[in-house]
Amino acid sequence: MSIVKKIRMQLLTKPLFALLTSKGLLPSISATEKTALRAGGVWMEGDLFSGHPDFEKIMANPYPRLSEEEQSFLDNEVEELCAMTDDWEVFQQRDLPQQAWEYIKEKRFFGMIIPKNYGGLGFSAYGHSCVIEKLATRSQVLAITVMVPNSLGPAELLLHYGLESQKDHYLPRLADGRDIPCFALTEPQAGSDATSIQAHGTVFRDGDNALKIRLQFEKRYITLGAIATVIGLAFVLRDPENLLGRGEDLGITCALVDAAKEGVDQSRRHDPLNVPFVNAPLVGRDVVIDINDIIGGEKGLGNGWTMLMESLAVGRGISLPSTSTGGSKLALFAASAYSSVRRQFGIAIGKFEGIAEVLGRMGADTYLLDAARTFTIGAIDNGEKPAVANAIMKYQSTEKFRRMILDGMDILGGAAISRGPNNLLAHAYFGAPVAITVEGANIMTRTLIQFGQGVIRCHPYAYGEIEALEKGDITTFDTLFFSHVKHVLANGFRSVLLGLTRGHLHRPKHGGVSRRYEQKLSWVSARFAFLSDVALGIMGAGLKRKESLSGRFADVLDQMYLLTAALKRFRQEGERKEDEVFLKVAMVNGFNEIDNAFAGIYQNLGRSLVGLLFKSIGFYAGINRFGSVMQDKDVHKIAALLTFDESVRDRLCGNIYRGGRVGELIAGARAMQEAKEAFSHRKTSGEQSLDENERILIARAEELQRSIIGVDSFSHEEYFRCSK
Ligand SMILES: Cc1cc2nc3c(=O)[nH]c(=O)nc-3n(C[C@H](O)[C@H](O)[C@H](O)COP(=O)(O)OP(=O)(O)OC[C@H]3O[C@@H](n4cnc5c(N)ncnc54)[C@H](O)[C@@H]3O)c2cc1C
Repeated sequence: MSIVKKIRMQLLTKPLFALLTSKGLLPSISATEKTALRAGGVWMEGDLFSGHPDFEKIMANPYPRLSEEEQSFLDNEVEELCAMTDDWEVFQQRDLPQQAWEYIKEKRFFGMIIPKNYGGLGFSAYGHSCVIEKLATRSQVLAITVMVPNSLGPAELLLHYGLESQKDHYLPRLADGRDIPCFALTEPQAGSDATSIQAHGTVFRDGDNALKIRLQFEKRYITLGAIATVIGLAFVLRDPENLLGRGEDLGITCALVDAAKEGVDQSRRHDPLNVPFVNAPLVGRDVVIDINDIIGGEKGLGNGWTMLMESLAVGRGISLPSTSTGGSKLALFAASAYSSVRRQFGIAIGKFEGIAEVLGRMGADTYLLDAARTFTIGAIDNGEKPAVANAIMKYQSTEKFRRMILDGMDILGGAAISRGPNNLLAHAYFGAPVAITVEGANIMTRTLIQFGQGVIRCHPYAYGEIEALEKGDITTFDTLFFSHVKHVLANGFRSVLLGLTRGHLHRPKHGGVSRRYEQKLSWVSARFAFLSDVALGIMGAGLKRKESLSGRFADVLDQMYLLTAALKRFRQEGERKEDEVFLKVAMVNGFNEIDNAFAGIYQNLGRSLVGLLFKSIGFYAGINRFGSVMQDKDVHKIAALLTFDESVRDRLCGNIYRGGRVGELIAGARAMQEAKEAFSHRKTSGEQSLDENERILIARAEELQRSIIGVDSFSHEEYFRCSK
């Protein structure tokens, strides 16, 4: 140890160490929080927290592609399943058609994540995501039903933690649908705070001298719960007589429970906003299982929380971002095609600036969302387990989906309100709040998890410092602390210089239009990293409870992540000229959100003199903004492209099911385009001037147009039957 370090340790580090420990100034971390923090890894989120992101490295991340087999599955099996599932009928019958259930099992839709050697499809995360995305464009019920067994549940847990004997038994049965799984964690007293589950199992010795577990549980909201044949159950394991020799309280444990066992009650259903997927309470009284039913056997005793956190961290990046992207693409497709067909005041509504404003926003958001889905899933396929990026994706994709559906419905007007087979959006609208609530309800995900987890886990020094404090390791603490101080000073300095040069100090290696966005992102990251440290310094352990502030930091973090993904997409797809405007509008929106979030941070960062200082800096930052005023011409250009250029609409909304009502929309929009000149000829020169071909084109366009703007109506009898 150098002499300088020795003196520093005596004079500074030891007193500081004592102060931090006695006053609890750094956040303490409970055992369950530690497990959540350690779940997953740190990917490029670490760069965003560093204040100096390495864009060369970030942009070099692999971009996923479908294998031939996955593409063929999408073009054939997925297409066929969509064709046999009429979403209106699903709502009428309150179930998927029998044929669809059989097809799902036969074609192993439930086994997408199960390797081929166990009889599954062994798809990549990207292949899996694209299947769910396309199903969501046909029927949310279909997508949710297929999504759940491929998400956090028995198969995922078995694959990572199961005994070979458990894998050999269950995985082939789960892959071909002989077993239907569900995963039961949530309870009346344990929703967002899943650690407070009360379901419990007690170890006992039965008449044959074998060790068994007697379970009591009362679960709710369990998807597929009422029809599951195998229940993945989370419960607290107790061993009052210490029969297992591991103590009395073994903690949260996960087991697979045969639903046919005595004491399991699957007899009731919930009604999740009328969306008819299977969701149910599950009750178990004196249900007896073997020790071998615990996932992972002996190794799994008390290991349930770790299993759940690690698996959830990845699941959040795939399932909900895929259904949300599918739903958003459907909303955009329906709204833009409809805008080219629907005419009011003598012109297509897509030409009204008011509609164009909404369509423009939707177009840019869809570009961004799909970019982020692909970017994140590329990382997962590359072996990353990016916990914070996945929480960002869960939150942002579902929020954007909710907004997209509302925007789409505003554009379709009454045609989106009147329910019936012709309404493409109403059922997605019912489903949007479900996505917001599950896998970490969104308010908590934003205000507690994204930044709260990120600032500890992704920060280059914070987690190490806390660990060193806990272990009483002053030497490590000293090294980390003084590196941290250098880091803060460097970021503060960088942030000022980047602010003065408006980001130009950063010299991207990459040229072209996207260069400027990279400079701004680098500037945002420097300020974000500096202010994160300031907030940690001012609030210490209290930062965890400052959810409003944490939410604003999360807003900056989320936008940095989404915009980086958009940058990656743009560069990866060859910097297409026609995509520049999508990228630009997405960037302007994102940077404006970042400005708003920073304004809130400056206003609320501290009290008295410190508060005044940051409010003054905030005033300067309010002038030296990252964002800019949105240009109407850009937003209108996106709307025009989407409304009147089929190839752009197709590209942006790729991977949607094109049969049924969507097929009619495509035909109608195409016919209106083909008859465009004939319509204008008729307008200028009158009906008599039209030739035969023009008459045919107009007649066909008008017929299809009538059908597209048509909405459903019902006889009184039908109405009361279908409202039951
Ligand atoms: C349709 C549906 C399907 C589901 N499927 C399953 C399933 O298959 N298996 C399963 O186990 N569970 C399932 N769930 C449960 C789901 O995961 C929970 O609903 C979710 O965890 C939220 O719990 P809660 O509904 O009890 O809300 P609460 O926990 O009561 O939360 C209420 C509100 O408080 C907020 N909140 C809570 N804590 C904080 C905090 N610290 N900071 C800020 N805000 C906070 C939340 O964000 C939310 O907005 C499902 C739920 C639904 C609705």
